[in-house]
Amino acid sequence: MSQFEHQVKERFLRYVKIDTQSKANVKRTPSTAKQLDLAKLLYEELAQMKAKWLHLDEKHCLVYAKIPGNLKQDMPFGLIAHLDTAPDASGTDVKPWIYEKYDGNAVILNEKLGIKMSPASFPILKQYIGQDLVFTDGTTLLGGDDKASIAAIMTFAEYLLAHPKAPHPTICLAFTPDEEVGGLAKDLDLKRFGAPYAYTLDGDHLGYYSYETFNASEAQIEINGLLVHTGTAKGLMKNAVAIGNQIIAGLPAKERPEYTSKRQGFFHPFVFEGDVSHAYLRILIRDFEEKGFARRENLIKELVRKANDEYGKGTVTLNFANGYRSMKNAVMGYPFLIEGLVAAIARAGVKPVELPFRGGTDGSALSNRGLPCPNLSAGYENAHGPYEFVSIQSMAKNVEILLALAKEFAKMA
Ligand SMILES: [Zn+2]
Repeated sequence: MSQFEHQVKERFLRYVKIDTQSKANVKRTPSTAKQLDLAKLLYEELAQMKAKWLHLDEKHCLVYAKIPGNLKQDMPFGLIAHLDTAPDASGTDVKPWIYEKYDGNAVILNEKLGIKMSPASFPILKQYIGQDLVFTDGTTLLGGDDKASIAAIMTFAEYLLAHPKAPHPTICLAFTPDEEVGGLAKDLDLKRFGAPYAYTLDGDHLGYYSYETFNASEAQIEINGLLVHTGTAKGLMKNAVAIGNQIIAGLPAKERPEYTSKRQGFFHPFVFEGDVSHAYLRILIRDFEEKGFARRENLIKELVRKANDEYGKGTVTLNFANGYRSMKNAVMGYPFLIEGLVAAIARAGVKPVELPFRGGTDGSALSNRGLPCPNLSAGYENAHGPYEFVSIQSMAKNVEILLALAKEFAKMA
C-alpha cells in the first residue's frame, strides 16, 4: 500500500467506529450529541498536526481549522465534509473489515446471518477488482458517507502541514453536523471559516463532481370541504378528497420521480390524507432550471386558483415551504472553481464526470448564503445501508486530487 493509502485507511477505520448517526425531525442542532465525539477527535488530531485557527464550536458541533498558505498572493479556498451518518440504517458498533485486492467474487458480509453481496446484484463491484475495499458486517451502514471525505481531507491536511514548502494557498477546513437530516450547515460561521469559496466533499463514485442541484420547494395544500349527507348532497357538498384528487390529476402524469432521470424535473405528490371535510396534500417540486421551476410552481398555483373558482374562495389554501435553490447561479460567477477542480481530478489520473445532482446539498444552501460551493465526490458506494463500501484507493486518490487542487490554486494565484 502507498503512504496515502495506508494513512487514509487508518483514519477511516478510526472514524467509522464512532457512532455519529443524526436524527430527523429534531429541532436543535446537532440533532444528536454523539456527533460531537467525532468533532472532538478531529479537533485533537488537527491540533497534533499543528493546524492553525483551530476552533471547536461545541454548541453547534462544528470544527474549524486552517492550513496556512505560503504564496505571495494568497487565494484561500475551503473544504467541507459532514460528520453525521444517515438515520436510514444503524451507525452503532460499525465493524469495518477489509477485502484486500478484491477478486470479483461474492462478498460474504456476515456468515452467521447469511448476508452477502454478489456482483450479479451489485454490478458496481466489478469496477473495483484489484482494489482494497472496506465493507460492513451487514448489520450497519459503513459511514463512508461522509467519513471517506473526512479521512481524505485529514490526510491531505497532515501532508501539507508536514510539507510547508509545497506551494499552496491558505486552505480553510470545516466539519459540519446533520447534513443527512437537512441541517444545511446553517450554523457554519462564514467569517470564521474564512474562505470566499469552498468545495463540499460528499457523494458516490470517485471523480464525480457537481455544481448544479435542483431548485426545490414543497407545495403544502390544505382543502376545506363541506360534509353533508350524501342523500341530500347535490349542489352542496364539497368533497375535499375529490378536490385534492383533481389537483393531482392536473399535474403532468409522466413528470414524476418514477418516470424521470438526469436533468428532468418532477412533481412528487407524497402525502395525501384526510376525508370529505378536510384534506391535506403535499407535493415536492424539483427542477434544475429556474424557469422550469417557476413554471412548475405556477402550474400548482393555477390548479389551486381553478379549484377555488369552482368551489368557492378559501376552499383551498396553498403554501410553498422547504425550498432551496440550485447552486449553479452562485458558482457560475467563479468558473475557475470548476476548471481547477476538473484539472485536479484529471491530474490525479481520474476521469472527471459532471453530475447534475438530483437533490440538494449543504453546498446549495451555502452557495446561496454567499459561499459558492461545488461538490467533489467522496467515492463511497451504496451509502445509507449495510451494503455500503469504500475503496481505500479511491480515498487515497481524493487526497491526490486535493493536493492537485491546491497546486491549481497556487498557479491561479
Ligand atoms: Zn453525505
